[in-house]
Amino acid sequence: MKHLSSHQDTIVALATPPGEGALALIRISGKESIPIVNAIFTSKDLTEVSSHQAIFGKIQSTDNQLIDEVILTLFRNPRSFTGEDSIEISCHGSPYIVQQIMQLLLAKGARLAAAGEFTQRAFLNGKMDLAQAEAVADLIAAHSEAAHRVALTQMRGGISEEIKTLRQQLLDFTSLIELELDFGEEDVEFADRSQLIDLVQKTLALTQNLTSTFQFGNAIKNGIPVVIAGKPNAGKSTLLNTLLGEEKAIVSDIPGTTRDFIEDELVIDGIRFRFVDTAGLRETEDKVEKIGVERTQAKIQEAQILLYLYDTTTSEQAEAYAEVIKYQKQLPDTQVLLVANKIDAFARLDFFPPTDFDIPIVPISAQEKIGLDTLKERLRESVIEKPTSDVVITNVRHYHSLTEAAQALTQVQQGLASHISGDLLSLDIREALQHLGSITGEVTTDEILGNIFSKFCIGK
Ligand code: GDP
Repeated sequence: MKHLSSHQDTIVALATPPGEGALALIRISGKESIPIVNAIFTSKDLTEVSSHQAIFGKIQSTDNQLIDEVILTLFRNPRSFTGEDSIEISCHGSPYIVQQIMQLLLAKGARLAAAGEFTQRAFLNGKMDLAQAEAVADLIAAHSEAAHRVALTQMRGGISEEIKTLRQQLLDFTSLIELELDFGEEDVEFADRSQLIDLVQKTLALTQNLTSTFQFGNAIKNGIPVVIAGKPNAGKSTLLNTLLGEEKAIVSDIPGTTRDFIEDELVIDGIRFRFVDTAGLRETEDKVEKIGVERTQAKIQEAQILLYLYDTTTSEQAEAYAEVIKYQKQLPDTQVLLVANKIDAFARLDFFPPTDFDIPIVPISAQEKIGLDTLKERLRESVIEKPTSDVVITNVRHYHSLTEAAQALTQVQQGLASHISGDLLSLDIREALQHLGSITGEVTTDEILGNIFSKFCIGK
């Protein structure tokens, strides 16, 4: 991979968003950081400045023109984010100034950083493991309280410590088993099998616990998809608009006018719900609308929560129940809520008798904003139960590695139970070690690293 081999270079990037702002932050890291910045900073000799100091002064161009007055923060290796000598230049947030300073730094020997290169260096220099490095990206991308908390826990060590400890113990066992093999014909057993059984059980339990948090973790990170379904004119667009508090979907009296999908988000209790408004669910001959209906079905498949809305002034409750039961059968993993709309226009209050069906029914008026708090409450309750620990898997790569590790560990367990030979046993353990190690980056390839860090933005 390109930037692994050029790991010795001094890299520079703008760390704040491009464009005008009060301030901008330029980040430099690498062996030559201090001399390079020193060459353009005229107020103090930076080679004499100790770590973790902020210094005010001037940056001048090669022909001694003043570019800006800045604050530098100097970090000496290894006490920096990347583990290298680093300087952060806080200048005025003018794209012109930023460009000038960057050009000066490049002229003095720095090169532009690749995407994620600062974090990658932090990983390569042992400042953090791979799972922690990935959490840096998640933290920056976190848009809700829950996503923020999960990313922060991960960045501070989260799953890493426990995985590392168990992995090390497994590694020690494999070494012992492999040592036994060296003794060939002699019947020696250095690795205590009953201890190994316990350890494998413990590691398997950990991987399974972690994988079981993924559905919740993924929902936290990406938002929970909610589909509002129902016949045309049930009030789906009105409900969506009311919930989101703005005119996002087209509301009309003509059945079937909401032909496309309007996705929007609502944060309840720190959890992000992604709403998908769908074209009316009905048989249709209209071509455009037909596509809409087909796409609706696809969207419904993805939903974690389905709000089935019906119009209490025209539809029968029994018919709505029948629809909901159909959906429940069709989508066993989806929470289906029955929402009775337009109760402002429907006078019969005995309309919602207790029922034998296990379907929560929420009476609302989307237009008059009645019952919406209860609806939000139900949405919140419908989210998969929050795992008890704060450590939650949100990353698909971790999820896959954990699942594969669990499979390999199950194999080890079966092997131990059937007393398979040491060489086969050690193969299975090595396989589990490989997957566990790939999470924290103890086992990794340039390809994996390149893949992970290239998704970061420049300056991270
Ligand atoms: P959709 O086809 O399911 O998206 O339905 P719309 O949101 O376009 O609503 C259809 C019609 O029902 C519109 O005229 C809305 O004003 C009306 N409507 C929606 N919600 C309510 C409600 O709670 N009460 C009353 N009385 N009318 C409503």
